[in-house]
Amino acid sequence: MTQLLNADLHCHSVVSDGTLTPEALAERAKGNGVELWALTDHDEIGGLQRARDAAKAQGMGYLTGAEISVTFLHQTVHIVGLGFDAANSDLREGLRRTRGGRQERAMEMADGLAKVGIKDAYEGALKFVGNPELISRTHFARFLVESGVCKETNEVFRKYLTEGKPGYVPHRWALLKDAVQWITGAGGMAIIAHPARYKFTPNEEFALFTEFKGHGGQGVEVVTGSHSVAEFGIYASTAKEFGLAASRGSDFHSPDESHTELGTLPALPAGLTPVWELLSARIQ
Ligand code: AMP
Ligand code: MN
Ligand code: MN
Ligand code: MN
Repeated sequence: MTQLLNADLHCHSVVSDGTLTPEALAERAKGNGVELWALTDHDEIGGLQRARDAAKAQGMGYLTGAEISVTFLHQTVHIVGLGFDAANSDLREGLRRTRGGRQERAMEMADGLAKVGIKDAYEGALKFVGNPELISRTHFARFLVESGVCKETNEVFRKYLTEGKPGYVPHRWALLKDAVQWITGAGGMAIIAHPARYKFTPNEEFALFTEFKGHGGQGVEVVTGSHSVAEFGIYASTAKEFGLAASRGSDFHSPDESHTELGTLPALPAGLTPVWELLSARIQ
């Protein structure tokens, strides 16, 4: 399988904070020429059976996937897992525990928003939730757009949902070591998602990559909807420096919100090992 395969290995459905069903995503991916696809809902694998069936119906290659929320050096880092056995009980239990606490966090977020005059945000966000265990900041953002407080979700995050803002509630997610172990223990590959999004110093970022490797992590997203073209190059170098395979994924959430469409990113830069080369035995 070549560097040029149209692989899109990162997107979200209604099972987490996307707005499309797994079936609609598969159809959209196929329509855009995707040849190998994975659904990577946040901390949740409840959509994978539907995703697999839909991918097969569309004639696309398919990998199991999830995007796990981790706390590393006081920041939230996302680890994508691909090609794992979705029946693995340690993985399932780990994800279940990672999802736990989202509801309490959401109520605290609503309390914070109420203090600045935004009422009933918990109930408002719930209207957008497809999976009761997976209420996220994105659902609050959609409610604040719907109720006219902001024009778009980006503005909501900037004004209300990021550190220091009224609806922000700090949260402890999984340990890096555990997330990598759940994925690799289930036969999958752990991948650092969109590294350019984190606000680490160079030393902290070095620590992230070093510890991730040490725990058995094998990949990094190089070409993602969250990176600029310059960042494709920067993380291509990081992948080589750390001996990591490279992944490619749009991080598509919604036709109305996502700036990167499924299957439309550029190819991986030359000289990298695509994650799908190492995962060929796991492709369904
Ligand atoms: P949570 O897991 O509840 O903290 O929500 C995280 C999700 O919020 C991410 O996966 C993104 O989908 C979304 N998100 C984070 N920052 C932004 C932003 N600046 N603009 C739009 N969506 C964002
Ligand atoms: Mn998301
Ligand atoms: Mn992410
Ligand atoms: Mn994502």
